[in-house]
Amino acid sequence: MANKHAIGIDLGTTYSCVAIWEERNSRAEIIHNDQGNRTTPSFVAFTDSQRLVGDAAKNQASTNPTNTVFDAKRLIGRKYSDPVIENDLKLWPFKVVADAEDKPKIVVNYKGQENELTPEEISSMILTKMKDIAGAFLESPVTDAVVTVPAYFSHSQRKATKDAGTIAGLNVMRIINEPTAAALAYGLQKRPNCAEKRNVFVFDLGGGTLDVSLLTIKGGTYQVKATAGDTHLGGEDFDNRMVSYLAKEFKRKHKEDMNGNSKALRRLRNECEKAKRILSYNNEATIDIDALFQGIDFHSTMTRARFEKLNDDLFEKCMDTVKRCLDDARVDKNHVHDIVLVGGSSRIPKVQKLLQSFFPGKELCKSINPDEAVAYGAAVQAYMINNGHGGNDSKTLKNLVLMDVTPLSLGTSIKGDLMSVLIPRNTPIPAKKKGTYFTDSDDQPTVCVDVYEGERLRASENNMLGLFSFDVPPAPRGFPIYICFDVNEDGILSVSAEEKLTGKKQEITINNGTGRFSAKEVAKMIEEAEMLKDEDEKYKERVKAKNALDECVYKVKKAIKDGNFFSKVSAMDKQRIMAAIREAREMVNNDGVEQGETYQYKKCLMELQSVTNEIMGKINSDYEESDNGD
Ligand code: ADP
Ligand code: MG
Repeated sequence: MANKHAIGIDLGTTYSCVAIWEERNSRAEIIHNDQGNRTTPSFVAFTDSQRLVGDAAKNQASTNPTNTVFDAKRLIGRKYSDPVIENDLKLWPFKVVADAEDKPKIVVNYKGQENELTPEEISSMILTKMKDIAGAFLESPVTDAVVTVPAYFSHSQRKATKDAGTIAGLNVMRIINEPTAAALAYGLQKRPNCAEKRNVFVFDLGGGTLDVSLLTIKGGTYQVKATAGDTHLGGEDFDNRMVSYLAKEFKRKHKEDMNGNSKALRRLRNECEKAKRILSYNNEATIDIDALFQGIDFHSTMTRARFEKLNDDLFEKCMDTVKRCLDDARVDKNHVHDIVLVGGSSRIPKVQKLLQSFFPGKELCKSINPDEAVAYGAAVQAYMINNGHGGNDSKTLKNLVLMDVTPLSLGTSIKGDLMSVLIPRNTPIPAKKKGTYFTDSDDQPTVCVDVYEGERLRASENNMLGLFSFDVPPAPRGFPIYICFDVNEDGILSVSAEEKLTGKKQEITINNGTGRFSAKEVAKMIEEAEMLKDEDEKYKERVKAKNALDECVYKVKKAIKDGNFFSKVSAMDKQRIMAAIREAREMVNNDGVEQGETYQYKKCLMELQSVTNEIMGKINSDYEESDNGD
């Protein structure tokens, strides 16, 4: 249905943005909010009489700090005990507690009552606001939306974001990666030679975070190759530098120290943010605040040169992250075709200058406002989903496949705590893979299907995303169970187990509060996995040897029983074979594979095999002889 509206929402840490594709003009329109602003603060505030979202919430933050909630994106899909948020918890003016499942809850006072809210609920309030902004512009309610998330978001963070959309009454058609959306906004897939691979570097410097990514685009297919970032580097840090500089100036001029007065500091910070924005266009900005502290009016000017000097080291730090990402992706900077600027802070001239000199001779893509590029791309994708497939009116957007990849390998554990990978790292999604696994013992009542994310060979060293137990009908060892891993377009994983005898099937969707890794952690885990690969390989060999021995014991015992062999062999042979089996079983049953070395298992296996071959061979040749004799 061509008339059905579908919007794109960039749900940011500090600011959110909503856009819609305009068919008439063949471009996305960024929708202004009720304050006339094109981006809306990701703030929600609670007062005695009302709930405020966006500009209204941010504007009253200094007078109502404990009930003004921001940064919900840092909490969403994480556990309270996640070390990534440990420091944030100490600094946020609002209270966060853990629930019984270790999920964070934000405590606010609303209409005189204490309320505990999940990060999903806070995010849903922001999404509702964005949805309403679009509804007002379109003069009709909107429900379909594409919502963006950082490329490094884990399954649970994506799932939680989608849940927030559902709470907001949105039909989240798809969750897509922010850098992918930005590249999509520029239509880079339509650039010349795009049948060949293009390397696109996305630099996203926002309000609180820096996220850089390297994507490849080939024939309309987008893949995130590497991400790097700094979870605490962005516009707010630049504001803070200005705040402490000006607070010192105030002290020098007026002999009054405003440090410790959070209200004065917050008012000063607001003005600093405004001045910073002006400095992206002008060489100078003035700051005027009435009765800032102790009734004293404050007046000052800030030059662009001063601002750059105050933040010099932070800007340099951004460039270190850029280098790291290219190193991780193993791509030489000369092989980068496009550089896309994203995030409000990438408007800062000095930042652009540093990037330009790092990528000499390359043009920076900045014709779309950087703080709007993600929402723009999300709107493109939303339109494509609604009209793109089979629609005649969408030639420009047709054949555009968005492809993201799984950031870490996904698999299940098999005997001996080995990680059996079903979907390897960097597999384009959606992805579906089936594996057949077998029971370890006769009449095994259940199998435990556990789901892990990570690169270590030993499953328990990876991050467990979930598990369930699957009932097996009575059957001999080696009964097949079919396990299927399915990562959908949103990067959300469901795992199912099935057996064909009775046709029973069981499924789980990996949900909140489980996998939770930042890009940094992912990178660290991969690095760690590389380092420990040797050790892991040895472990794998050992488990393989042990399992082979176990398998052999089982087979020999079964052969003896089925073939009634002991009635055919001498007492001495029986004793020899029993002794070999006993020895092998002792080795296998010795708990913890660490206790046996690979060579010991191998040796034991060889002995068992040679004894059984010799004796069973003897039986066989006896048979042959007697056959011949007839
Ligand atoms: P988010 O990080 O939440 O995705 P944005 O990408 O919109 O948000 O970035 C918000 C940051 O960009 C804020 O710190 C804001 O002050 C900063 N910003 C916005 N416009 C400008 C500008 N013209 N110059 C410098 N910084 C800007
Ligand atoms: Mg952003």
